[in-house]
Amino acid sequence: MIRSYDKTTKESFITIPATIKSLTAKMKQDIVADIKNSFKALAALKKKGHKIGGLGFAKSCNSISLSQYGNGYEFIKVAAGKYKLQLSVNNEIRKELTTKDQKFKLISIHGSDQIKPEMEFTSAKLVRKPSGFYIHATVYLPREDKPMPKKHSIGLDFGIKNTLTTSEGKTWNIRVPESQRLKLAQKKLARQTGESNRKRTKQIIQKEYEKLDNKKEDLANKIISELKKEYEVIVFQNDNFTTWKKNKGMSRVVQHSVLGRLKSKLRSSDQGQEIDRYIPTTKLCDVCLKLNNCPLGQKIYRCKFCGNEKDRDVKGAIVTEIFDTERIIFDKAVRLYQRKPESSTTTPTPITSELSFRDYSLSDSVELKSEIIQEAPKL
Ligand SMILES: [Zn+2]
Repeated sequence: MIRSYDKTTKESFITIPATIKSLTAKMKQDIVADIKNSFKALAALKKKGHKIGGLGFAKSCNSISLSQYGNGYEFIKVAAGKYKLQLSVNNEIRKELTTKDQKFKLISIHGSDQIKPEMEFTSAKLVRKPSGFYIHATVYLPREDKPMPKKHSIGLDFGIKNTLTTSEGKTWNIRVPESQRLKLAQKKLARQTGESNRKRTKQIIQKEYEKLDNKKEDLANKIISELKKEYEVIVFQNDNFTTWKKNKGMSRVVQHSVLGRLKSKLRSSDQGQEIDRYIPTTKLCDVCLKLNNCPLGQKIYRCKFCGNEKDRDVKGAIVTEIFDTERIIFDKAVRLYQRKPESSTTTPTPITSELSFRDYSLSDSVELKSEIIQEAPKL
């Protein structure tokens, strides 16, 4: 909808075709505001050093902001627990509608049982998806006192075979395979030539992808909420899944699993705690903090220094938990230090660890102990 861009004055002219009659002036304004905000967000990203591709002209707009409840959109109660949507129409359309009924035409919506009387609606978005139109409303709810999580922290290990393993040994194996319908439609599209037939098949494919997406989102939400209820701090490693994808044979699994979603949800949660991706969680021993090689495919981790043997993924999750915040590194390091026979001190000795793994090149096994610096006790 951006019709032109003046390179000298750096001004873009945003025009909305006059043919869109049913949009109110407010909606049009909001569309323009959204575009401006997107530009600002892009500019901010570019400043940070992210790569921004070239801008192109958009054929359609799939999202319209409705910035105020009661002014543009409203949910009208039609029966107990049942609501309908009222979208405002612009004056031209209003004139064309004759009866009072039509003027305030209510739109039936699915899922109106989600609306509760105590909800306070603010802004919303009218969204077009391959499967139809949706309304995404932001609501305020009275604050509920959530029960405090029972346990302090847990470490996670992302993996290929088991999607997620916790330091307590719980595993989730998540696969969301493509449906038969999607596979068939993709095959069909490959041999179709007619433009209208192709369009229809493309729509089917888009719908199926939307379903897949919903399933993944649902699974990821369930796991995260379960963890958040149980633990105050969820420690995870910032693994780079895109490099996993480069590995042949892994790409489809990574694609079908929900790893990326889980990570981004943890990142945006105040209970998530990220640790650096260069910490060799797979190689570190959780008992003596020394490094051992554990090649891919080897299920059991064995430490040749202390004889520790554990499931590879569970051990990875435990190490992840150890390397949480400084405080936890501190606590665990003290405990680990005390466990060792050569230090028989009864008073806890504070230890700060300065671990830099970026410069680490692992030949066979390297001792890490020397990097843990002992400090004078602070009381
Ligand atoms: Zn060990």
